[in-house]
Amino acid sequence: MRLSKYFLPTLKENPTEAEVVSHRLLVRSGMIRKLTSGIYTYLPLGLRGINKTADIIREELNRANCMEVLMPMVQPADLWRQTGRWNEYGKELLRLKDRHSRDYCLGPTHEEVITDLVRREVGSYRQLPLNLYQIQTKFRDEIRPRFGLMRCREFIMKDAYSFDRDEAGAEDTYKGMFKAYTRIFQRLGLDFRSVQADSGAIGGSFSHEFMVLADTGEDTIAVCTKCDFAANLEKAPVHAPRAASVEDCPDLEMVETPGMHTVQKVADFLQIAPGKVIKTLLFAADGEPVAALIPGDRELNEVKLKNHLRVTELDLATPEQVREWSGAEVGFAGPKDLEIRTIIADNLLLKEKDWVTGANQKDMHLRHVDLERDVSVREYADLVNIVETDPCPECDADIRFHKGIEVGHIFKLGTKYSRALEALFLDDQGNEQEMIMGCYGIGVGRLLAAAIEQNHDESGIIFPPSISPFELVIIVVNAKDQHVLGKAEELYARIQELDIDVLLDDREERPGFKFKDADLVGYPMQLIIGARGIEKNVVEAKDRKTGERIELPLEEFRAAFEDFRSRVWQGWGL
Ligand code: ATP
Ligand code: MG
Repeated sequence: MRLSKYFLPTLKENPTEAEVVSHRLLVRSGMIRKLTSGIYTYLPLGLRGINKTADIIREELNRANCMEVLMPMVQPADLWRQTGRWNEYGKELLRLKDRHSRDYCLGPTHEEVITDLVRREVGSYRQLPLNLYQIQTKFRDEIRPRFGLMRCREFIMKDAYSFDRDEAGAEDTYKGMFKAYTRIFQRLGLDFRSVQADSGAIGGSFSHEFMVLADTGEDTIAVCTKCDFAANLEKAPVHAPRAASVEDCPDLEMVETPGMHTVQKVADFLQIAPGKVIKTLLFAADGEPVAALIPGDRELNEVKLKNHLRVTELDLATPEQVREWSGAEVGFAGPKDLEIRTIIADNLLLKEKDWVTGANQKDMHLRHVDLERDVSVREYADLVNIVETDPCPECDADIRFHKGIEVGHIFKLGTKYSRALEALFLDDQGNEQEMIMGCYGIGVGRLLAAAIEQNHDESGIIFPPSISPFELVIIVVNAKDQHVLGKAEELYARIQELDIDVLLDDREERPGFKFKDADLVGYPMQLIIGARGIEKNVVEAKDRKTGERIELPLEEFRAAFEDFRSRVWQGWGL
């Protein structure tokens, strides 16, 4: 490709609305343009990056016996009604009607469509297992599309779905996909972790997320410094001592705490640690009142509470509900004599007695509360977020937090969809069975953005060679000089023969401008050819990642270039 004829509208200035670096750089390097909120066009360079990423995904999935299909984006509401998700999915599902007033949606995911296909085509155990994938455009009407390709409304996803005869088979398929994912992210040259994850609304019993580590990530993951434990904060269990404390608790006492409606204020006022105050949080869980008790120095993990209660809707009580359920203003609710049947306390509250809690009266707290003695706690559970000072839940060693970007997610789905849609088969005994499913996603566009979040500097993107839109740019220092241009063209032809994606910057622009552009776009390798070098019979080669520059002889060019190239790839661990 010749840059003089290539559509590559780079920008000097940062787009004002871009909050994160990948968004800024994707726009500035001429890869994407916004059409409207959360909806982007991929320009030639951006699409090349997407396609390169997709090709690696394809190779690895094909190797894992997963077969590519392409499903429709428009999906009939009937299927979604059969699984109950027409109502459950909420506003992220973009719904539309056809000319006959029939309901449809734009696919945010394809469990319904694939299960419908498989239930029609597969009826015997001999046809299983079956694992199918597609790379296709999804639509989710995200409430706050942001960060460019990281969280958009229309985006390209790889989604795969597996169907197995039994649990053991499903487990094998899951493991195979885990391996394929690991190979994919390794080949992309990214620093990533696979972490235990919550299976969320999609259901199922087993799930891992693949996180690209980057400070700008929206997710926090807890990683053990010793064993291989790694989990999303949403999921990471907090290791709490099970045995109750033996310390004695003095008699209950009411104390006045005028205007003290936060843990910090109460703790300061009573001169105790915030961790000795119990936060009583009231929720409407599928409409029913629930009280969750946690230590005052901890954060409640709503995902854990929701999963523990097995509810779909969990809303913090409104001030009116707090008044109605506790009889007091917000900030003074407490578990003693609370007229809520479901009181769930965090496991950490087992380790001590003698707590301070709200007294269900304005401006009053109780001290010397012994949960066992004074309160009817229905059950204890793990309800709080892990903190960095907690021990590893698996080996008790120290843990560290990292920020990550979720680029992939694999789930064991079980029979949720096969049951709802009656995807059945006859086993070898002739008995009808439900297929066991798994589903596996990768956000292809988000992955490109995550690669940039992880790999950039003040000059621009630093692409891993495996996904860079072009692996190499040849910069012609003075393209008006026919002799130089001629030599550059020769070089260009020779590199093309090696089957390498190479771009020739033959534009009649100032050299400084072209160097800046090359750094901005982040080609892993630059070859700089000018009159001075030609005189010496050399071309300058630059490794974008290390900044290292060396001279390659124009004679014996191929061997020197291949050596340089393999060092660049090695620098990426590839
Ligand atoms: P998130 O929690 O970030 O919303 P999700 O759990 O909804 O993600 P999945 O349903 O598991 O995501 O989708 C599979 C993959 O698709 C995700 O791992 C992510 O890489 C990508 N993805 C999801 N939502 C978006 C989006 N709005 N924009 C870009 N990529 C997305
Ligand atoms: Mg989502």
